[in-house]
Amino acid sequence: MFKKAKEMIEKANKIYVVGHINPDGDAIGSSFAVYFALKNMGKDVNVIMPKYSESFAFLPGIANAVESVEEECYDLLIAVDSSVKTRLAISEKDYNKAKQVIMLDHHKTSEPFGDFQYINSEIPAASQIIYDFLTEIGCEIDKTIATYLYAGIVTDTGSFNYSSTKPSTLLIAAKLLELNIDFSEICKKLNDTIKEAKLRLIALTIDNMEVYFDGKFRYSYVSYEDIKRLGLDEEDAEGMTNYLRMVEGTEIAVAVRGKSNGTNKVSMRSNGKVDVSKIAISFDGGGHARAAGYTMPKDLETSKKELLDAVGVMLK
Ligand code: 5GP
Ligand code: MN
Repeated sequence: MFKKAKEMIEKANKIYVVGHINPDGDAIGSSFAVYFALKNMGKDVNVIMPKYSESFAFLPGIANAVESVEEECYDLLIAVDSSVKTRLAISEKDYNKAKQVIMLDHHKTSEPFGDFQYINSEIPAASQIIYDFLTEIGCEIDKTIATYLYAGIVTDTGSFNYSSTKPSTLLIAAKLLELNIDFSEICKKLNDTIKEAKLRLIALTIDNMEVYFDGKFRYSYVSYEDIKRLGLDEEDAEGMTNYLRMVEGTEIAVAVRGKSNGTNKVSMRSNGKVDVSKIAISFDGGGHARAAGYTMPKDLETSKKELLDAVGVMLK
């Protein structure tokens, strides 16, 4: 399946790995798993990654990430966890410096790019694809790589709770556990440890909650000013939607957060009946059936009205 990609890697020396903007555990997990595997192969490799949430700081070697490409050109770019070029955390200029591009992803929404493309939206996490990829091309999965892959899989499967989880996901998780990773610590750091300021952000999100369509839709908005006032950075403000989704009777939950550049980011979750990626795509975003997002195209009030209309249609 990955034969051509294997040949491309064998021929390359200077390689960059990149995930998507707003890096989550899966983007980070898949990027760094590839990074360490290629390093073990003796390649000159870097991960390009913008600022990440402090909750990932415990991951070994994550501070090695760079923000851009130094060289005039390089042999290979490996893009993971996004098949939409504009969502990659790399500038167009740095993208164009690559002689060849490999893309590995699991999103439903894609605008495929690159010389080697692999997209499988049946797989719950890009990190699961990376496990198969590295195994097939003959890389040994060591403890560090396993730690990253496990972090990625745990993130995108909601700790194996989402319906996207496959038997193969658990079989791979078992293989990773055999490498003596500290899976309990990974979960504690990723899912179970927050700053007090984040707890206050959760409180504010809940306080600002609005309820529509007989409780089937829950919406909340937190401004960038509020995020800053609480002492948080914008990358710390993710994951708020999950609290809204928990309320019984909810079909769709949306948390909107203001960003430093003045835009408003929509994070959507579905409890299964509605495919929220359809709503996100209609506003130029994307994602999965149960988790999707977009940047509001218009001002907050207008975009919120348009969202309510779209949700109303989907709930009918
Ligand atoms: P989250 O709500 O966690 O930020 O994002 C949920 C899912 O939707 C992720 O898989 C993410 O990649 C996708 N997503 C979020 N925002 C956008 C966007 O603006 N464009 C696209 N194409 N996908 C998005
Ligand atoms: Mn992912």
